[in-house]
Amino acid sequence: IYGEKRPNSRGVNLNIRSQYQPLMEAMGKFMDSTWDARPLLAFDVPAAPDNTHAVTSPYDRRRKVGSVQWTSKEQAAKAVDAAWVAFPRWSDTPVTERAAIIRKLGDLMEDNLAELMTLCSREGGKLLTDGVDEIREAVDFCRYYAMRAEQQFATPTALPGPTGESNELSMTGKGVFAAISPWNFPVAIFCGQVVAAAVAGNTVLAKPAEQTSIVAHRVIELLHEAGMPRDVVQLLPGDGPTVGSVLTGDPRITGVVFTGGTDTAQIINRSLAARENAPLPTLIAETGGMNAMIVDSTALPEQVVADVIQSAFQSAGQRCSALRVLFLQDDVADRVIEILDGAMAELHVGDPRELGTDVGPVIDDDARRGLTEHIEKLKGEGRLLAETPLDPVHTAEGTFIAPAAFLIDGIDALDREQFGPVLHIVRYQASEIDRVIESINARGYGLTFGVHSRNESFAERIVRKVQVGNVYINRNIIGAVVGVQPFGGQGLSGTGPKAGGPNYLLRFATEKTITINT
Ligand code: GLU
Repeated sequence: IYGEKRPNSRGVNLNIRSQYQPLMEAMGKFMDSTWDARPLLAFDVPAAPDNTHAVTSPYDRRRKVGSVQWTSKEQAAKAVDAAWVAFPRWSDTPVTERAAIIRKLGDLMEDNLAELMTLCSREGGKLLTDGVDEIREAVDFCRYYAMRAEQQFATPTALPGPTGESNELSMTGKGVFAAISPWNFPVAIFCGQVVAAAVAGNTVLAKPAEQTSIVAHRVIELLHEAGMPRDVVQLLPGDGPTVGSVLTGDPRITGVVFTGGTDTAQIINRSLAARENAPLPTLIAETGGMNAMIVDSTALPEQVVADVIQSAFQSAGQRCSALRVLFLQDDVADRVIEILDGAMAELHVGDPRELGTDVGPVIDDDARRGLTEHIEKLKGEGRLLAETPLDPVHTAEGTFIAPAAFLIDGIDALDREQFGPVLHIVRYQASEIDRVIESINARGYGLTFGVHSRNESFAERIVRKVQVGNVYINRNIIGAVVGVQPFGGQGLSGTGPKAGGPNYLLRFATEKTITINT
């Protein structure tokens, strides 16, 4: 029905009964299923019960999702051998063939939407609305990168030259890429990294986050079904110290594409740099943020609160792009905080599979522990402004955190990114605005940023001065769309490439200049 090339994914509108109902029925079939994930390598992998880990749901730890067999160090090293051998063949494969496989993966993910969404919620704790967005983004990455690869890689660019000389510039893959991905976008970011590296002509070793290996396994099964050779993209479930370190320590790894914490990016960077006799690597990193929003006295308080709620608490605040520090001009602060308090009291925290839930669980016990410590500390200092009530009946068995907002003195008061539904509010006087911007820049992160103001010149001046990757004016600061809002930060937030942007694939490519004396 779609012809050869389907349009951008339209997703599913959960507010329309005729779309919601069939999806719920299809998801229902997978609600009690269990899955067993294991390494998907170029060679057969024997079962290893000792290296197999149980997976349960973040909203109810009694519910089993399945199991995942981790990759051993020896298997990881052998997988690098296979990727190294496969590279010249894959790099020589015409880009139209590579792109066709990636497009096919997009189609297969749409066809398997119900299963992938069920896994996103059962394994990753994602709300239904977030699950729809997640699969749609993954499909869009496939179609967008396939299109860009054909535009950028198929024909060399002709360059000028004197009579008797022809010059051209061609692009090929760099070699073997390790793709190390996070649990917060277990399909979209995982898939975006893998397909970008592969369509550009690299072979790929994908290490998914430990917490969401099952859904990653399902995506790679679909990719192999789409025709991707098993030695071109391999899946290596496991943890950083075991699998990640084998990959980043191997001199044959040409590049790493990583999304996750800033600390982990530093570990990867050091490991790549410590290799002897290795080519200088490419590191494409999208890391944490300490994202701010500035609200001045001309902003509309109701709109501000709606956008703050989305930015800070959607996906339980587990987005790199999420709002962490809200700067309120003193004249509007009381009004905004009052409306925010009312709105937070109405949020429903609970089972992510129910349509009425606004905030699902955080990913695991470690995450809950870290956030709880931070929350208790701020409460102990008497800084709590607003908190969503937790219903103990619906949250007892999972790793839930009640959304909370605290008053702090400045962005410097935060020592690290708090990856959860915790909002910090700073009040400022109009005369202090330059100091506010300096403090945001000085903190060193640079991912997303928002400004709410009806004074255009004020908004423009701030936007010019703030050193970040993605700026949003008079709206929420999350949910960058592929091909529309290329996404990625600078400084402590990343090495700068923009996922879903027109130049992303260039970071995975080597350019070759060919001069012919004719
Ligand atoms: N691209 C996502 C957004 O705009 C965030 C990605 C991330 O959390 O790493 O909300």
